[in-house]
Amino acid sequence: MSAGEWLDTFPGVVGNEPLARHSQFGVGGPARWFITTRDVAVLAELLRRCADSGVGVTTLGAGSNTLISDDGIDGLVVRHNDRRLRVTDDHTVELGAGCMMPRVALDCASRGLAGIEFGIGVPGTCGASVCGNAGAFGTEMADVLIDCTSLDPRGEPVTLTAAACDFGYRHSRFKDELRANVIVSVRLRVHADDPDRVRERTDAIQAERKASQPYGIRSLGSVFKNPPDDRAGRLIEAAGLKGHRSGGAQISSKHANFIVNVDHATAADVLTLVRVAHDTVLEQFGVDLAQEIIVLGDATSGDPRG
Ligand SMILES: Cc1cc2nc3c(=O)[nH]c(=O)nc-3n(C[C@H](O)[C@H](O)[C@H](O)COP(=O)(O)OP(=O)(O)OC[C@H]3O[C@@H](n4cnc5c(N)ncnc54)[C@H](O)[C@@H]3O)c2cc1C
Repeated sequence: MSAGEWLDTFPGVVGNEPLARHSQFGVGGPARWFITTRDVAVLAELLRRCADSGVGVTTLGAGSNTLISDDGIDGLVVRHNDRRLRVTDDHTVELGAGCMMPRVALDCASRGLAGIEFGIGVPGTCGASVCGNAGAFGTEMADVLIDCTSLDPRGEPVTLTAAACDFGYRHSRFKDELRANVIVSVRLRVHADDPDRVRERTDAIQAERKASQPYGIRSLGSVFKNPPDDRAGRLIEAAGLKGHRSGGAQISSKHANFIVNVDHATAADVLTLVRVAHDTVLEQFGVDLAQEIIVLGDATSGDPRG
């Protein structure tokens, strides 16, 4: 009998869900079990029972920064999809962790609330954006977070202030010792401003993003973090890899730190390009690029050398 057999009959849980449907890159094998929920009590019960029965839990947001293995993910994959947005006063916006950052940016702009304009360039959920300290155009989550509440692996709530999240460049404690916690809500700091001016700044960020990054094609966002005093895209381009292809995946010819899905790419195709870009930049420039995209499932599935 499988440790997670009880999940087969748990309301809302589906078996063998194709995760390509939940990945913005359109890639990924099945989740053994999968649930999308907005109910924190349901999530807490699932986490506790998974811990008791030894079933692994993986959290997915909007799938904009994750490469999901072609072999899928064993255990339970949860997507906490609470998209409620509530303005509690002129300085505070309360968000369910499933709120999409571009939506938050636009809603705040229309209400004359400034500070979240950068969110227009981050096509993911606010929960994951806290986890990875997402940022764009000079602002990151660390600058605007008041606090966030997560559930620990036993389903118990834990509220952390921004200072307690130990933020760094695309990093927080939710990537380290709290990686098994699921963020369920987030409070962001805003300030009142003229709605037209907030909207102008939001539009300017969007326009710059469209001009400099692949747009309207499936990608995973920045593949590598920028090394100190340099840019990963500049190094990959200088290594002559713009447009380089593996199967259906390609290093974007518009911005070399993006990999795009041009023709039914697989996770193995992407991993091949990640390795080629990393190794070529190391060989030519001595720079050891660190990966920004997150690989979920078995990273060695497929043959990364193609
Ligand atoms: C075209 C494009 C442009 C992008 N531009 C930017 C940019 O300018 N700046 C930037 O920072 N990023 C950018 N990204 C990357 C991405 O949008 C962000 O990293 C975003 O925060 C990821 O959100 P998500 O919901 O898609 O997370 P996912 O990809 O689903 O998950 C990312 C990680 O967060 C974890 N996670 C998800 N939800 C939760 C939760 N509720 N609690 C705890 N952990 C969770 C997952 O387990 C995974 O480890 C871009 C991506 C694309 C495709």
